[in-house]
Amino acid sequence: MANLSEIKGIGVNTLKYLNDLGIKTIDDLVTYYPFRYDVYEKTDMDKIKDGDHVVIDGVCENNPNVFHFSRKLNKMSLRLNTGKKIYNITIFNRAYLKNKIKPGMALTIIGKYDGKHKAIVASNLEFGMLLKTKITPIYHSNFKISSKKIHQIILSVIDKININDYVPEIFNQKYKFIDKMKALKIIHNPESLKELNLAKEKLKYEELFVFMLKMSYLKQGHKKSAGLKRNVNYENIDKKINTLPFKLTSDQAKAIKNIYDDLTSARQMNRLLQGDVGSGKTIVSFFALYINYLSGYQGALMAPTEILAIQHYQNIQKLFPELNVSLLKGKLKVKERRQVLENLASGKTDVVIGTHALISDDVIYHNLGLVITDEQHRFGVAQRGNLKNKGKMPDILYMSATPIPRTYALTLYGDMDISSIKTMPSGRKPVKTILKTNKEIKDVLYLMLNEIKKGHQIYVVAPLVIESDKIDLENVSELAEKMTKAFGKICKIGVLHGKMTNKEKDEVMAKFKNGETKILISTTVIEVGVDVANATMMVIFDAFRFGLSALHQLRGRVGRNEIESFCVLISDKETKRLKILTETNDGFKISEEDFRLRGSGDLFGFKQSGDMNFKIADIKQDFGLLLKVKEDTETYLKKLDTEKAFILQEILQKAQSLD
Ligand code: ADP
Ligand code: MG
Repeated sequence: MANLSEIKGIGVNTLKYLNDLGIKTIDDLVTYYPFRYDVYEKTDMDKIKDGDHVVIDGVCENNPNVFHFSRKLNKMSLRLNTGKKIYNITIFNRAYLKNKIKPGMALTIIGKYDGKHKAIVASNLEFGMLLKTKITPIYHSNFKISSKKIHQIILSVIDKININDYVPEIFNQKYKFIDKMKALKIIHNPESLKELNLAKEKLKYEELFVFMLKMSYLKQGHKKSAGLKRNVNYENIDKKINTLPFKLTSDQAKAIKNIYDDLTSARQMNRLLQGDVGSGKTIVSFFALYINYLSGYQGALMAPTEILAIQHYQNIQKLFPELNVSLLKGKLKVKERRQVLENLASGKTDVVIGTHALISDDVIYHNLGLVITDEQHRFGVAQRGNLKNKGKMPDILYMSATPIPRTYALTLYGDMDISSIKTMPSGRKPVKTILKTNKEIKDVLYLMLNEIKKGHQIYVVAPLVIESDKIDLENVSELAEKMTKAFGKICKIGVLHGKMTNKEKDEVMAKFKNGETKILISTTVIEVGVDVANATMMVIFDAFRFGLSALHQLRGRVGRNEIESFCVLISDKETKRLKILTETNDGFKISEEDFRLRGSGDLFGFKQSGDMNFKIADIKQDFGLLLKVKEDTETYLKKLDTEKAFILQEILQKAQSLD
């Protein structure tokens, strides 16, 4: 059996519904794990309180009574004798069962205890006694196909499939894991919680093993792979550093030295540069491009947004006039684009800065030696990889403003070296962060007025323009109207949102940068990178919608000089979670907290890029297991002749979705 459509009972419609849930193959189907289980275990009625969930069994004492409220609504009541006590049971809309239930019949009742009437309002009724714990798997489902139906389909195939166990025998023995097939059967149809746990253990381990084996394999590969060897005298770098308009922080200098050492070694660089927003990563990346240029290669810097690409483009030209820099963005005129491509191919261009336009098929480099991605978590692995493939073993630098707690980083980015910028450039004041509710909006407006009077500028962040009117959000235009009412007479207001053309965005941004507009209302397009030193205040509406790290990044847009800066978080919800931002400005601490509260997805941006869609393991909860697996995969790889190992090939193939 190879295809879903060959399974008995799966018709055209069911097939489509399964596809909608992301189930395309038999493999998808049997690894479509329940997200939770309903566990029916007999309740100890001596300990029961009003409102408790109960599961009891007993014998029916009477013929049930049915009362019809309307054609669609009815109520059935009966008495159940548990051997200790008799309970009154009511259940809605089961009139059709009336004739099937007779006095003396054994029944199991699932419902809620009503302490006042010493009765049970049942949500479910089943025939027979509850002889042992009953566990029902519950699957994510939709209106078209129920959890129960999915369960049936899975059970109908599970006995007929052949599936590989990717855990090598040595580890199956070491941990006394159960057989893979058995684990799959149990996960979809457990008889006890104990065996369910054994099945989970096995499947989680296997999933993490496949992932980690790939990571460890990549790491070994990088360590071995030969890179470009360059000859650059460090004195030249030092000289250039002395021409900068500011003094580098020691972490910046260290990072540049790390990169210099990597670039001048024969090994390929694969480095992550992480540092809080505003810590000054950009200048470090410029030096990487400069060293690369001095050794005769082209360099590319890929930014997640056009605004950011333009900003980098302008800054690098100011600081490094000796470089011939091109800007490649999505919407260039045909002629302009052709010129840029020509200069890249001929080698006239030393450095190219752009968005993901840099990885289009028609972009050909003369001799790409260094590839940098800014805000790397914004790109999928595939996008990053594509840029890398444009050169012959180019060196690679990733930059991220989402500091990752070191242990996690080492594990997940196991194949990278890391430079961290922990100190901020001197003269920065921490951003003062305040929490307000929507009712207190007047206070916020006064604070804003104060800043405008001082000649400062303000960012106002609204949630994305959302089409659906179900979600009642302050959208950008509504907010713009309100702000115009409040401040329209004393200053100009700019509006920026995702639906604008790039040209419109650039114009709005330019006006804010040169101080023409004092207030910039925007969606999170400003989240990354934008740099306007005169902006001293950030107001964020519906702050609860954001992860802590995202909010921290947003507020990093202000506080870029010695002037006191403010961030106002407006939220009627989740104020406890948001409070941490009022207490600390330490990005590492905040990301740990985010990680603790929301899991890895938001932190690493993996959810968007699909790198780590684990089906059963949970990177946060199972982190201890992940560390163990990491060690195992490393031991395993050391013992293995990697080129020939059949199992490894197969695992890597399976792990291709991670690529
Ligand atoms: P991020 O790390 O968030 O990308 P940037 O590189 O954009 O931060 O730097 C933020 C601002 O700090 C920029 O205006 C940059 O010119 C400035 N800056 C960087 N390094 C220093 C320094 N050592 N001293 C003073 N200002 C600096
Ligand atoms: Mg940046």
